[in-house]
Amino acid sequence: MKHERGKLFGTWKNRLSVAASESMTRALEAHLVEFPTTFEVSVCPPMVAMAPVQRILSGILSLTAQNLVWDDDVSFTGETNATHLLELGCKYVIIGHSERRIYLREDDEIVARKVQTAVHHGLSPVICIGEFYEDYKTGRTKAVIESQLASVIRVLRNTENPQFVIAYEPAWAISTSREALKCEPDLANANHLLIRELIRNEWGHDFAERTTILYGGSVSPQNARDYFLQSDIDGGLVGTASQSLDGFKGLIAAARYAFNPKLEV
Ligand code: PEP
Repeated sequence: MKHERGKLFGTWKNRLSVAASESMTRALEAHLVEFPTTFEVSVCPPMVAMAPVQRILSGILSLTAQNLVWDDDVSFTGETNATHLLELGCKYVIIGHSERRIYLREDDEIVARKVQTAVHHGLSPVICIGEFYEDYKTGRTKAVIESQLASVIRVLRNTENPQFVIAYEPAWAISTSREALKCEPDLANANHLLIRELIRNEWGHDFAERTTILYGGSVSPQNARDYFLQSDIDGGLVGTASQSLDGFKGLIAAARYAFNPKLEV
């Protein structure tokens, strides 16, 4: 079952130019034609690069947006509607990233509204949850995960078979965060087990077993196997290491090994 949940997301944040996003996409598509994967690989370009990247895609890579506005009907300068993302053939949208929680003060209520909007429009949210360093140091990790997930569950409760992905990302382990510390794979896995249990309590065993729970936080080609081989880590949401071609290929190789050991390259 675990290998069926496997997915790999590379988020280019605001770090790659439009031209670099296009050439990365071309190179990744060529790589995956040569070395196909059984798991999904998704690229998350900067918003300005979404349309150019979409024109290159051939159905091998999926497209993920990094944000959306919580309501298609409000006028909101600079924001992007769910319907725009669907027009671009987007399948996923990242919601609740710790950088947006820190710098833009996006709280659980805004995250929940965005999740509701995405699901309502048929986009799968990649819902980022995870504690900040102060929570971690004071033993509040479990409480934070429970309350972040509870606010999302509240808005999805009445949706039949909601499609979403969870990304557990301890904010203190993001490579570009203030702390940039290592979250050991077994600690990350323990938190993934907790998340799966909370999902099981709400939607039942089968649903929880099908749910993809990604890990994010300083995953690199060198350490990715250690994370992806854990029982409940179903792949990664990766920032820095996905922003170079060699890095992204290294992540794909690690995922290929972890999700299908016979195909190790
Ligand atoms: C992220 O920003 O979601 C992330 C996981 O970044 P990095 O891989 O660079 O830690």
